Amino acid sequence: MASRSCRRKSGSSVDREEAARLLRDGAVTRDPSPALLKAAKRLEKVGLVETRVREYVLCAEPRDADFPPRNRHCRGRIYLKDGLDESGYEYRCPECERPVFPERLRKRRHQELHTKVSRQGVESYISSQLTRLKVGIKEISEAVYRVDLGDMGVVVCIADYCAEEKFLTRDWAATHPTCYIVVNPKGFEERFLEEEWLRRVSLADVVSGAADLEKVLRELAASGPPPAGKNVSVPVYTKGPAPVVIEPLRPSVKDRRFVVEVGPNVVLVEGEVVVAPQAGPRYEIFRILWDRFLDDLKEAIPPEQHELINIRDLIKELESRTGKFV
Ligand SMILES: [Zn+2]
Repeated sequence: MASRSCRRKSGSSVDREEAARLLRDGAVTRDPSPALLKAAKRLEKVGLVETRVREYVLCAEPRDADFPPRNRHCRGRIYLKDGLDESGYEYRCPECERPVFPERLRKRRHQELHTKVSRQGVESYISSQLTRLKVGIKEISEAVYRVDLGDMGVVVCIADYCAEEKFLTRDWAATHPTCYIVVNPKGFEERFLEEEWLRRVSLADVVSGAADLEKVLRELAASGPPPAGKNVSVPVYTKGPAPVVIEPLRPSVKDRRFVVEVGPNVVLVEGEVVVAPQAGPRYEIFRILWDRFLDDLKEAIPPEQHELINIRDLIKELESRTGKFV
């Protein structure tokens, strides 16, 4: 974990939660608080986000003079635009199409705050933070920087923008002291490999002062890479949804049939490739489960009595079949 201190740079920093909300690219916040608008301005000033405030009125707003319209539950939102003439019936509800008069009826106004994260802004913000360390800095790949701290130097990788997969593997992180910076706070923990030693810090923590980047990097430089034990290359961070999704068991549909075809390195279900030839370990895992299933069938064990295999036994079996350490 990144070390977190409660130290806040007085005056110039933004609240952590507000920063996290604003750093979700494409975030839309309805009726933003004055504090959030202020935070948005600050982040915009340092170039991290572009913001836009749109004003709108509601078609059906109980506190307005024109309530209720014909459809009192209409959810239409009418955005106010410069140059539209309401006396010319130019404002219409997009849902029920009735003409709306925001000015004349002094309809209650609402705001929407739109934020867009600027990749270029984030990169220059991080490199300016690194420049403050007053040591050598080199961008070794897109959004990956080598910082001359300690004997081996440390690597700072903006995970969201890093284009070279090798920097996002466990192999890399286990052999090079690396600090990952994550811009999009959504699913921050879930998208990382669950290993304590991985140094990751969210951009929201850095801009709010909840994490002291300099301190994190100096500690990393002093401690060096963690002892590398296992030798399997797995991603430490995924830009998409979490790679493993555990879904609750659903009752199976009675009498449902599938055609499963198992080739020497490929598996098809109902003609659809579910394990491709290049997916070696996946094929091995399928074979283990398949062989157990066939053994149970041979012994005429009814399906409800088939035993589930736990993950540890599955790993052991995989290791013994492939001779590789998983
Ligand atoms: Zn309407």
